[in-house]
Amino acid sequence: MAILVLGGAGYIGSHTVYELVEAGRDVVVADNLVTGFRAAVHPKARFYQADIRDRAAMDAIFERESIEGVVHFAAFSQVGESMSNPLKYYENNLSGTCQLLQSMAAHGVDKIVFSSTAATYGEPEQVPIVESAPTCPTNCYGETKLAMEHMMRWVSQANGLRYVALRYFNACGAHPSGVIGEAHNPESHLIPIILQVANGTRKQISIFGDDYPTRDGTCVRDYIHVTDLAQAHILALDYLLAGGENNVFNLGNGVGFTVKEVIDAARRVTGHPIPAVVSPRRAGDPAQLIASSQKAMDVLGWKPEYAALDTILSTAWKWHSTHPDGYGAE
Ligand code: UDP
Repeated sequence: MAILVLGGAGYIGSHTVYELVEAGRDVVVADNLVTGFRAAVHPKARFYQADIRDRAAMDAIFERESIEGVVHFAAFSQVGESMSNPLKYYENNLSGTCQLLQSMAAHGVDKIVFSSTAATYGEPEQVPIVESAPTCPTNCYGETKLAMEHMMRWVSQANGLRYVALRYFNACGAHPSGVIGEAHNPESHLIPIILQVANGTRKQISIFGDDYPTRDGTCVRDYIHVTDLAQAHILALDYLLAGGENNVFNLGNGVGFTVKEVIDAARRVTGHPIPAVVSPRRAGDPAQLIASSQKAMDVLGWKPEYAALDTILSTAWKWHSTHPDGYGAE
């Protein structure tokens, strides 16, 4: 039996496929390659270029392959774009998931692990954030992910689907081999942008606001290595395969770093000066997001291996220093 990874050519998806293959699992990847890269897909995974909104394409995969569980990453994930073009997010993230769940039900596949996000919480009342905290997204991206969680819950009640939602904090880092890494076009995430300054692709990094109520005025985030996230997906899948019930887990390190601290760490790790300028706040940014991942540790037995910020940055630097054009150079 195989695991179907939707969005397996994207950043977190491709790293999860690598961990699954390296763990000896049989893996099928479907990705429409709108934001993902064919070169990011592990050569041992069977690849289908397909869109989750295309019911016939999904049906064809479930008919051809023997799928025991689904890992679902196929979604748009840019906060800023979700604010300017909300319907793009509803259409892909929600109606795509709707098509997918219909196709799964029609083929008797009833287990799904899927990407959710810390953005489902919005501005937290307390940190570290626990899963029972109020969910009040401040952007449309988080709203669609929360709606996906709710969709799974209702479908589960109706037809017995079982799901695990993984609420990621700030995914970062790269496969320790440096073979795959983070690449978005355009890039909007902090660590890749910092490292693009270090590798000479950009001149400077803009710090979005230094007047937040934090220790140095810049936003605090919980940075979690992509390989640790990938391992959590395997644990969640095995939890469902072993009969585990519907669940939601935060995934973070439980430690927050400011934007300035991340830039300083990157200077240390890369040996490059990395010029930075302070610019206005970015709309929709909460001051501080830090996870409690105690539940994932207790229930799934998850334990992040690449928790140190310098380790995260050095794996990311291995990728960015050797792939200045991302997958474009392949
Ligand atoms: N950030 C920044 N400059 C950039 C990109 C991001 O100062 O060029 C800040 C951003 O405001 C946030 C943090 O870095 O406080 C992490 O942003 P990112 O987009 O990586 O992830 P998010 O927290 O939005 O998921």
